[in-house]
Amino acid sequence: MSKPLVIHWFRQDLRLSDNPALSAAVHQGDVLPIYILDDKNANEWAMGGASRWWLHHSLTALETSLADRLNLYQGEPLKVLLALIERLGVTQVVWNRCYEPWRMARDEKIKQALKEKGIRVESYNGSLLWEPWQIKKPDGTPYKVFTPFYRKGCLKADMPREPLPRPNNKDAYLVDDKCQTLDSLNLLPKIAWDEPFKSLWQIGEDKAQSQFFQFLKEGLASYKEGRNIPSKPFVSRLSPHIHFGEISPNQLWYGVQREADNEHVDHFCSELGWREFSYSQLFVNPNLPTQNLQPKFDDFPWLANDGTHESALLSAWQQGKTGIPMVDAGMRELWQTGYMHNRVRMIVASFLVKNLRIHWQHGERWFWDTLLDADLANNSASWQWVAGSGADAAPYFRIFNPVVQGQKFDTEGEYIKRFVPEISLLPKKYLFSPWEAPELVLQEAGVKLGETYPHPIIDLKASREAALEAFKSLK
Ligand code: FAD
Repeated sequence: MSKPLVIHWFRQDLRLSDNPALSAAVHQGDVLPIYILDDKNANEWAMGGASRWWLHHSLTALETSLADRLNLYQGEPLKVLLALIERLGVTQVVWNRCYEPWRMARDEKIKQALKEKGIRVESYNGSLLWEPWQIKKPDGTPYKVFTPFYRKGCLKADMPREPLPRPNNKDAYLVDDKCQTLDSLNLLPKIAWDEPFKSLWQIGEDKAQSQFFQFLKEGLASYKEGRNIPSKPFVSRLSPHIHFGEISPNQLWYGVQREADNEHVDHFCSELGWREFSYSQLFVNPNLPTQNLQPKFDDFPWLANDGTHESALLSAWQQGKTGIPMVDAGMRELWQTGYMHNRVRMIVASFLVKNLRIHWQHGERWFWDTLLDADLANNSASWQWVAGSGADAAPYFRIFNPVVQGQKFDTEGEYIKRFVPEISLLPKKYLFSPWEAPELVLQEAGVKLGETYPHPIIDLKASREAALEAFKSLK
């Protein structure tokens, strides 16, 4: 008797190891591995340019791991699935769950429609340590503050699932010859802005594992304090790999704990906990990407909306031409590498929302298009956190001073010099605030403010006070 034919629908789980749905599929029958690019249901949250670039390379790597037996499609997933079911006699469909509100709504409809056709549908948790509905306060309501969410909720719940091995039954993967080519998905940019990315990122499951191994060797032992220093290799830089599911949080959770039992491991796990917290917030508040969690911020007096002034400031921020070196370094790191260090993400976001008083959604959108790790849960929760409008948010009056932040976390100015080379000859004393340097010092460093490097677009002290005044106006 022939084995049942099972579709494994790859989504945010572009890996073979620790893939619960794929492991189940391999046990249940012959597997037809598919990926469907679905921009229509994603609508305004269709992947941005940087993410699409990553996806292209991640699918290339997955195709290789599957000995060229990955089947690619584009369009309405229900239609694609129904066509495959009809044409090939598929009896079962499995996938790992996604948690973006649009994906949850879509998947629910698909599950229903397939079940009505007599198809068995199973979904698994392949991308979170705990399900977002699982961690609740004793009274059954969701946590709103991170520390109790993580320490009392996550750490007191059942331990996360142990990682599963890579299924070794390659023959179980079938070929369907009617699928699209990867190139026909048009994920790569038409204008070649991606050239610098190519040498910076190694993409795919095996590369994610190597990157993790390198972090275990070089970063983990310094993580707790080192994670704040943007010029040092003490963070994992795994976020795009995690977002696309090339490596699972379970593999990281158990991987670091096998390595050591110390404060650095504890801190790394708690950062994975922040990711869980973001997903839990998005699950409880599906409007997190577009609506203030704290409604009082709906009345916030953002910069007077005369259009031109706001867009000139926004554009200076996006291009890394604000005249504030730490902000410019971060924004240029993002543009040049598709990544920005977490400490600097907080600095540039605070500058946009508080000093420039530009709505956090403008920043969220820019990050969505330019970050390789753009993630609906993490991005929207983090922007609301910085803006002060989110759950357990940084209090509004805590406004990052980008000069002080630079002096504290980029003490030697290495990060600024790397991304803002035109001021790299300035003495350290003025590197973080070139506008304070005497004319002679500027001359000697080859800096001409307004020509080789911008004057600051805003006065940090005055804008800070204006932001605090604006905040006071909220009831
Ligand atoms: P590591 O320090 O090595 O941490 C390991 C993993 O833990 C990360 O890859 C990530 O999955 C998770 N993590 C670490 N810090 C956080 C955090 N503060 N919140 C949630 N998860 C965390 N992260 C994204 O993955 N996608 C985004 O779109 C995103 N947007 C952000 C926007 C703003 C304004 C801010 C302040 C932060 C944002 N973050 C986002 C969170 C964080 O900056 C990144 O996850 C982190 O910098 C990724 O680098 P890493 O992999 O080297 O982190």
